Amino acid sequence: MPETGERTQLADEAAQANPYSVIAESNFHEPPPAHRELAERIANDPRMHDHVEGFLSCMQCGICTSACPAARFGDYSPREIARRALDGDPTLLTDDTVWLCFYCYTCQSRCPRGNSVAVINQVIRGLQVEEGYGIKHVAMFTAWAEQFYDKGIGGTPQIFFADRVEALGPKWRRFIERRDDLRDELGLGSMFPSSAAAAEMRTIMDETGFRERLLSMGAWGGDAAHRP
Ligand code: SF4
Ligand code: SF4
Repeated sequence: MPETGERTQLADEAAQANPYSVIAESNFHEPPPAHRELAERIANDPRMHDHVEGFLSCMQCGICTSACPAARFGDYSPREIARRALDGDPTLLTDDTVWLCFYCYTCQSRCPRGNSVAVINQVIRGLQVEEGYGIKHVAMFTAWAEQFYDKGIGGTPQIFFADRVEALGPKWRRFIERRDDLRDELGLGSMFPSSAAAAEMRTIMDETGFRERLLSMGAWGGDAAHRP
């Protein structure tokens, strides 16, 4: 393996003969040791299971960016995320643009290598939240998470009710106020799972650290003793 200076010179010469060699050179080298940790963390994440080879062989073709709806409306490029993730670029851990992705998975379905920027973004977002930086992006969902912990997935948390009435109008309000009666009439039962099922889910959330993470985001006013 040539030394770094020698490699740069070889790459310059190769680039004059074939511009695409620069892309190849910059995409198929191993991440620098200082940054390898982040690339390895992404590659080893279980969610990347079906995409590791694609992740490691991204050829920077840009098909993901050309198909990405978010890239059309913001300063955001899945191709660039794929590249920086492979480089183990630590600035990804403080990059707000990864929150522009809304997981439509178009990039994944179009990638000729089998990479998934959608999943890469999920891993990076999780790391951002773990380190505290990303909390500002998920704090708005705390009320949903509190309700999920307490009762399981069901209706809209009360805190959003006034805003939704304003957005959806009085007809929606009348429907919501009658929803439980209507469901009874139709024999559909509650929107929420049974209390036994909710308790089982809480056990899983306690064991996996979901509750602690919620508390670190200010859920239940930071009251660690909270129980539904
Ligand atoms: S489509 Fe796939 S191979 Fe092409 S740049 Fe995007 S992630 Fe890389
Ligand atoms: S999943 Fe995210 S990155 Fe991929 S195409 Fe959709 S918005 Fe873009």
